[in-house]
Amino acid sequence: MGRLTLSGRGRRRLLGGHPWVYADDVTESEAEPGELVCVHGPDGSLLGHGLYSSRSRIALRLVTRRSEAPGREFWASRVEQALALRASAGLLDPRDACRLISGDADGFPGLVVDRYADALVFQSGCQGSDRMVELVLELLTERLPFPVGAALERSDASVRAHEALEPRVRWLRGERSEPFEVHEAARPGRPALVYEVSLTEGHKTGHYLDQRENRAHAARHARGARVLDAFSYDGLFGIRAALEGAREVLALDQSQEALERAARNAERNGVAGALRTRRANAMHELRALGQAGERFDLVVCDPPAFARKKSELEGALRGYRELNRRALELVAPGGLLVSCSCSHNVDRLSFRAALGAAAFAAGREARIVDFTGAGEDHPVLATLPESEYLKCAFVRVGS
Ligand code: SAH
Repeated sequence: MGRLTLSGRGRRRLLGGHPWVYADDVTESEAEPGELVCVHGPDGSLLGHGLYSSRSRIALRLVTRRSEAPGREFWASRVEQALALRASAGLLDPRDACRLISGDADGFPGLVVDRYADALVFQSGCQGSDRMVELVLELLTERLPFPVGAALERSDASVRAHEALEPRVRWLRGERSEPFEVHEAARPGRPALVYEVSLTEGHKTGHYLDQRENRAHAARHARGARVLDAFSYDGLFGIRAALEGAREVLALDQSQEALERAARNAERNGVAGALRTRRANAMHELRALGQAGERFDLVVCDPPAFARKKSELEGALRGYRELNRRALELVAPGGLLVSCSCSHNVDRLSFRAALGAAAFAAGREARIVDFTGAGEDHPVLATLPESEYLKCAFVRVGS
């Protein structure tokens, strides 16, 4: 096992609760890239164990503060804890989908595992997690309440560049012909939903699992509504709304493939008659719809991340202000705007301020009636603010 020694500042950071230490705060490292290391303070005292990165600004991601080195048993109990959280949220139905492991927030630095029916998708973002994929697959296979049919590694996210890691995409077990179906089971007050995913071609690990609850929540306001689903991807905000009785839904996205998927999903759920799709740059299309005098009872606005780096924050806030101004102008008096931001560099307060500025510029009263995040399978670790990213404001729009 490798060994890392921290500066006084690095030690204080860990003792303050945060699990990451930056390269500037490491004074000595004797470790291979991605190796599990024991972590020492400047006086030699043992602070715990973590995963080392030789290239990232984040040189250490702490795994445990215990003095015993984490072995197979340790990781097995972390997997069990992650599965227990999903089981208690009712997310382990074999035909459904959910995030099983949400990186650092579940105690697996840099590693995401999503499952779609019986297929698992691994996404590794750092040197340490690259070394953990096989072990976690084994532990999940032993402990999931259904057999794992296939497993894909889809480590192709841009964050890998910070760690000088090449993309890694490969089937780890079995293979799946694509697209295939996921069935979200019916719940009290929520009809069942079926949709297709392509693990190899879809965005992220195939689908945006983090919006499951927000879609259902938005759909509660959809009866009889005219709905605009902007940045729709595979259409599930709009399709959920149609299942709850929306009169008509217009889905906008720039991706033709995503819209074709949305149309097939509408067909599958028996709501093809209610859904129209339009390929467009949503920024422009929102303005054009406003100028044409179109109004909607429910507008969903779920753009991609605007700030991928801290340096992009100012531009991102301007982007959110402008986009939401256009979205607010399209909401009929008394209607609802569901506005999302998935940039983790934009915190909740700044996003709320951007919505406020947008409302003021649009000359519309805007009351935030709910302000949610991602579903329970995407937990936020209280000591790691970086694990919070999705914000979803439900805004009642006045005259
Ligand atoms: N609402 C979706 C997730 C949206 S992700 C869901 O519930 O699953 C963001 C989407 O925005 C992607 O599908 C991407 O293709 C699309 N997109 C990105 N930039 C765009 C633009 N300028 N205009 C329209 N769509 C855009």
